[in-house]
Amino acid sequence: MDVGPNRPDHWVWAGAGTNKFSVAAVRELLERDHEVSKWRIIEWSKWVPRKCQIFFWRAEMNRIPTLEAFQIRNIPLSSVHCSCCGGGIETIDHLFTSCGYTAMVWDGLASWCKIHRFSGSKFEDVVDFHNSLSVPTAKKDVIHGIVIIACWRIWKARNEKMFSNKVVRIEEIIGEIKSFSFLWYCNRPRLKPILWEDWCSFKLI
Ligand SMILES: [Zn+2]
Repeated sequence: MDVGPNRPDHWVWAGAGTNKFSVAAVRELLERDHEVSKWRIIEWSKWVPRKCQIFFWRAEMNRIPTLEAFQIRNIPLSSVHCSCCGGGIETIDHLFTSCGYTAMVWDGLASWCKIHRFSGSKFEDVVDFHNSLSVPTAKKDVIHGIVIIACWRIWKARNEKMFSNKVVRIEEIIGEIKSFSFLWYCNRPRLKPILWEDWCSFKLI
């Protein structure tokens, strides 16, 4: 085969499979680039408002404006450390897993829901937390919704600290997560009614 400078020009298929172009090779290329099995599928909650779920979904895709995200885009910042605890660079993973402030929120929710405390280092651990619990499916669904609301509320608290220098107390956050989740859960049709007292003691069944 002539590979020298006098070789005539020719086309080479650089897609998937062999170097030969074929419909099957194009299909293989398309399927490879659109392979969805490796993507994480967010479980949507039936009763949590869209604004919370969309925030959760964006966080899972690393699409919320953390300080790390600004740093990556070369936006000048006085600090990239977490405004809630000051203990680490503000990444999605830090903000929702290893942040000392957030850890207290997770502990408060674990105590309320009578489940083991959250432990993880990645946001995907937050996303999958409800699946790690040995509780009935109906309870898992409620806890998943509460986790989504908690993330949304933690981000709000982070913004209040960053932009208004307001420190939101952990008790206040837990209280709001309880009351918002009760309100939203009760306002969804086809869900079993529940009393506020039972919600506060997490007697769902
Ligand atoms: Zn922190």
